[in-house]
Amino acid sequence: TKYVYNFDEGNASMRALLGGKGANLAEMTSMGLPVPSGFTISTEACMEYLATEKQLSDDMMQQIERNLEELQVRTGKSFSDDANLLLVSVRSGAAQSMPGMMDTILNLGLNDVNVERFAKLTNNPAFAYDCYRRLLQMFGNVVYEISGSYFERHLAKYKETHNIKTDQDLQVDDLKQVIEKYKEIYQQVAGKVFPQDPKQQLLEAIEAVFSSWNNERAFVYRNLNDIPHHGGTAVNVQEMVFGNSGNQSGTGVAFTRNPATGENILFGEYLLNAQGEDVVAGIRTPQTIASLEAAMPDVYGEFIRVANLLENHYGDMQDIEFTIENGKLFLLQTRNGKRTAKAAFQIAVDLVKEGKISKEDAVLKIDTKSIDQLLHPSFQVEALKEAELITEVGLPASPGAATGRIYFDAAAAARAVEAGEKVILVRQETSPEDITGMSISEAIVTSRGGMTSHAAVVARGMGVCCVVGCEQLSIDEHQKLMTYPGGELTEGTLISVDGTNGAIYLGEIETVPSEAEEAFQTIMQWSREISDLKIRMNAETVADIETGLSFEAAGIGLVRTEHMFFKEERLREMRRFIITNRQTEQDRALSQILNYQIDDFVEIFSLTQDKPVVVRLLDPPLHEFLPHQHNEQEMTKVAEQLGISSNYLAQRVMDLTEVNPMLGHRGVRLAVTYPKLYLMQAEAIIRAAAQVNATGATVKPEIMIPLVGMTEELSLLKTQIEEHLKSLLEELDTQVAYTIGTMIELPRACLIADQLVDHADFFSFGTNDLTQMTFGFSRDDAAKFINQYIGDGLMPIDPFQTLDVEGVGSLVQTATNLARQKQADFKLGVCGELGGDPKSIEFFHQIGLDYVSCSPYRIPIAQIAAAQSAI
Ligand code: ADP
Ligand code: MG
Ligand code: MG
Repeated sequence: TKYVYNFDEGNASMRALLGGKGANLAEMTSMGLPVPSGFTISTEACMEYLATEKQLSDDMMQQIERNLEELQVRTGKSFSDDANLLLVSVRSGAAQSMPGMMDTILNLGLNDVNVERFAKLTNNPAFAYDCYRRLLQMFGNVVYEISGSYFERHLAKYKETHNIKTDQDLQVDDLKQVIEKYKEIYQQVAGKVFPQDPKQQLLEAIEAVFSSWNNERAFVYRNLNDIPHHGGTAVNVQEMVFGNSGNQSGTGVAFTRNPATGENILFGEYLLNAQGEDVVAGIRTPQTIASLEAAMPDVYGEFIRVANLLENHYGDMQDIEFTIENGKLFLLQTRNGKRTAKAAFQIAVDLVKEGKISKEDAVLKIDTKSIDQLLHPSFQVEALKEAELITEVGLPASPGAATGRIYFDAAAAARAVEAGEKVILVRQETSPEDITGMSISEAIVTSRGGMTSHAAVVARGMGVCCVVGCEQLSIDEHQKLMTYPGGELTEGTLISVDGTNGAIYLGEIETVPSEAEEAFQTIMQWSREISDLKIRMNAETVADIETGLSFEAAGIGLVRTEHMFFKEERLREMRRFIITNRQTEQDRALSQILNYQIDDFVEIFSLTQDKPVVVRLLDPPLHEFLPHQHNEQEMTKVAEQLGISSNYLAQRVMDLTEVNPMLGHRGVRLAVTYPKLYLMQAEAIIRAAAQVNATGATVKPEIMIPLVGMTEELSLLKTQIEEHLKSLLEELDTQVAYTIGTMIELPRACLIADQLVDHADFFSFGTNDLTQMTFGFSRDDAAKFINQYIGDGLMPIDPFQTLDVEGVGSLVQTATNLARQKQADFKLGVCGELGGDPKSIEFFHQIGLDYVSCSPYRIPIAQIAAAQSAI
């Protein structure tokens, strides 16, 4: 097997094998861009290494040696050459970017001898010893797992006792002493010595990077981001270039567009005379990339050229890491930049307008998981005017409007969340150990660091509101105290954070829902044009329907009529109907309910006008309408309301109680015993439709009979409803274009779909019940064990959240085939939670359904997922 690839042997398409970093380094190399030479050890090698005794095989070792020799030839340098000393970085890089999750070692190759060589070579001993110091720290941290704080604490103490302000003020002798102390730390903490042999350093570093694939942080990050655990990380070994070799040198990170807003302006930060992680770590506050123009006009010009080239080449916003060594620009990384949902829409639309990508590409760029973020609320303008400001000069790193109580460390934040609080994590800066705490916070605030700091990048990825670099705040994590110009705040204080402009306020501020912006509308429009599936909403209230319509839902896929009965006077009439045994009482109750229902449907149809509306006739078990047997007060009240004795009521409630109501007297079964119930509802629908039609609309009601398992049930009810409506329409002397269909939610219904087709105008798959009935998992109880099933690997994913393709999906497929064999254009839809789930939508698209229906706020997700499935 080929385990090692020189940078000129790979390309961008090989990211699974070379990792994202390696594949893009190779791609940039082949584009002729200034990339320091190097090679990549594949993710395959990593997985093999982890699967065996954690040993590099002979074959791997030989390939690494061979590529190292080639690197020496190519660069004309070696690990022991006085005049041409080779130093390398060892960089991890998995197929999917995992910022800050795994570790990088710089300056590898330095040792007691080489540091002298390096000092002579660069004519800058302080610089050489500083590089050695950094190597000791990173190597110790990554390879021997010595916490960085040991080194940092010592360095800080040394500076303090010797009255030295910044790292740059350290003299050669200072550094030599620090290095000796660092070596002692190796002994004390890890019981090991720092390996002097560069090759040994390299091999140990490679193994450490491989092993880091399985470290806790990486594991948590993968879980949070749905990244599979079997991919492995590649290792890149690359010749060092030095951004810390003077004031004509520097290092930086830039996005080709603004990752928070999407605005088409180069956006980034750099530090002069600095190395590697100095920018991202947020230790020194960096300068904006724009100021590079004044500092080094030529380098800036070259960088602009390269940035444009890369963006055009990849057809997407790039996140570029670069280093300048003595006035020469080097590229160390490029990747598609992480961005907020807002920026994602803006960039996708702009790239199409600039003629760089197609509409289809633009739609594919949208991460459906991030869409929720776009619909984030913002603070109410009036309430903001009243609010007391803490600071307004933070950097708006990730948008949103959040209120919560402040906590100074991730663990305390987690405990507060457990206790039901909303928290805001407040820190000087964040580090990868804070990941879990960050993900559960409403917002993250840091006093240091820039727009590309760890906090900023991770928060954007998670869609968590975030403000960084609040220089007016002094945050003391030990005292748990945050000081601002106007006072001090202690742990647990309520604050509000505006991630869109970087302002922070005292107390809670009211929020308003976001308005969908133009770029969002454009992507939605393109998605509607591209997708085959139509997207409907599950809705029955005015507010929900208006939301769905604002997202241009194609209609309503599910009106749940039982939701309309949980109002005092309606419930009373429904109870009267269920409990009484007398015909006249029943009829009286029904005619009351009829009037309520006509009003309900008029309200709905007036909003939906010409769009189709599926109304499901009553479905729930009767006991949901009954008073609670053991609640005497309620029983007495109901008996009074209905004018019957408490004893009689108690008797009837007993009669109607079921052992297993979800499998009991519900759905169509209810109508087989009480046909008048469905006739009344059908009548209400048609009367309402006729009323709204009179105002100029063409209402299209689709009457849906639930829980059908047998052809006879359906044909019986359908015939009765049709007869009833026929005479009704004659009486009203009008026409309504209604259809009658059934919900498919029992396995048996799927298997006899070819029969059901003859008695239905449409099917709608009720995936919640179908999943429940197929697995035999009670929807209301399964949570207790499903999580364990998933944890133990017995099932990959909760089937109530994402379609179980093998089982439930195969039933849906069977029903679809049976139906379409008889009637090629038979109308098929989905209602239920899975109608809003991207992975499930992909399946529904593949088998050729007509529409999916989901809750109104999920329509954008469903619409874009449907388009993505169709591309
Ligand atoms: P991460 O995945 O955390 O971004 P990288 O491997 O990209 O880690 O390394 C972090 C930083 O280290 C880079 O942005 C760059 O500034 C610096 N670096 C890595 N390799 C080299 C190199 N060969 N020469 C100079 N700096 C390097
Ligand atoms: Mg890193
Ligand atoms: Mg990087």
